[in-house]
Amino acid sequence: MTGVKPAVVLDNRFARELPELAVEWQAEAAPSPRLLVLNDALALELDLDPAWLRSPDGVGLLLGTVLPDGAKPVAQAYAGHQFGGYVPRLGDGRALLLGELVDTGGQLRDLHLKGSGRTPFARGGDGLAVVGPMLREYIVSEAMHAMGIPTTRSLAVTATGRGVLRETPQPGAVLARVAASHLRVGSFQYAAAYGRATGTTDLLRRLADHAIARHHPGAATADNPYLALFEAVVTGQAELLARWMLVGFIHGVMNTDNMTISGETIDYGPCAFMEAYDPATVFSSIDHGGRYAYGNQPAVAEWNLARFAETLLPLIDEDSERAVASATDALAGFRTRFQEAWLAGMRAKLGLPEDVSHEQASGLVEELLKLLLAGRVDYTSFFRDLAQAARGDAGPVRNLFAEPEAFEDWLTRWRAFGPAPDTMDRVNPVYIPRNHLVEEALAAATGGELEPLDDLLEAVSAPYDVRPGLQRYAQPAPPDFGAYRTFCGT
Ligand code: AMP
Ligand code: MG
Repeated sequence: MTGVKPAVVLDNRFARELPELAVEWQAEAAPSPRLLVLNDALALELDLDPAWLRSPDGVGLLLGTVLPDGAKPVAQAYAGHQFGGYVPRLGDGRALLLGELVDTGGQLRDLHLKGSGRTPFARGGDGLAVVGPMLREYIVSEAMHAMGIPTTRSLAVTATGRGVLRETPQPGAVLARVAASHLRVGSFQYAAAYGRATGTTDLLRRLADHAIARHHPGAATADNPYLALFEAVVTGQAELLARWMLVGFIHGVMNTDNMTISGETIDYGPCAFMEAYDPATVFSSIDHGGRYAYGNQPAVAEWNLARFAETLLPLIDEDSERAVASATDALAGFRTRFQEAWLAGMRAKLGLPEDVSHEQASGLVEELLKLLLAGRVDYTSFFRDLAQAARGDAGPVRNLFAEPEAFEDWLTRWRAFGPAPDTMDRVNPVYIPRNHLVEEALAAATGGELEPLDDLLEAVSAPYDVRPGLQRYAQPAPPDFGAYRTFCGT
């Protein structure tokens, strides 16, 4: 096609190396495109010119309708366990991998669209996405990135000008997303099933080699590269889950097709941040059993990794008993690594000096969580207010507790350790995408008013730095906001 800045080079390595997992496909035309939000900083990181991305051709790239020569967009095949039930064929029903870009740091990154029209994987779906949920993914993924949590990134959301029927008619939109890759546990489940059906592990092996090359190159030289790949993914996910738990993030739909091999958070659907601390917190309207509740997330990740391990068994060892034994050992590393990462993170959140022992720190954390639960204390505010207590002003943190007596005793013991408030403020966000603020921004943007979105993005893009005028972004939802519900029907 013409008119595209020649510097945009999209490779199609995934499609080339794994054709069985790639269906060549085109994005649907948009009747009346309007760029709603563009991530200039990310564009520059990708060596894309933000001014050009705002031009008609640039917007065409963000919609997948104007492509550089040689680009070969594909819908990716994958399977997955959804709420524990296996679905052999999911795949990109409304998404496309446009191709891979090399960023300014030399890393290969996927450029991917969500909401770009029906594909052969669409099943009953319309292939579309709407403004609210795509902006939700943009806000939350960029907030996660700003907190240093591995995640896919959001490059742009473009309104298509097409009306999309949900419970009510909604404005359609396409999200342009960037990821280290879109390889999922579900990709391996698909390849493993394909192997069982065709009697060869050839595709599975190529997929594993592709994953090793892109994400865990160290595994290539290990004695057992596929076991090393599994170990690396276990470690990455254990660390990721610890990061989620430390900031109160609830993914909401941790199906195996929503778990990456790269260790990035992916597929922001009914996700939300917990306010009052409670491990049983669930926001998703379809999660009736609380399978993906805040406190269940590490166990679910471990369960998903067991499903991943099952796919790799034929590559790990031709003797299936030995393969199971090796994989089981490696999976046991999840709990250890998660606990380590989580406790290290909690120590930092509490500003505990290094000479505080492991036992002392664990005890302190355990008791604190009981107090936060009993008091239904706002999790995010607590740690910032606690740092103020270390500076001598315990008033705000005391005020978070309706009955501060029990907390008083904990506070005295914590203070005796000599906590470092500046360290705390570097790891405890003051601005997170709070549910009422996200809803406010999405409702306004759906109605065409983008200022609340821009303001919220500005607040969460520098989550640790208190700035004047942003007080309302640091506050929990007002009581009249009520119980929060999120939806998958995006
Ligand atoms: P998600 O909940 O976004 O992780 O999606 C789960 C599966 O449903 C994936 O295979 C999606 O491609 C597919 N899907 C979700 N919404 C739609 C839609 N509106 N049209 C087609 N496929 C969809
Ligand atoms: Mg998904």
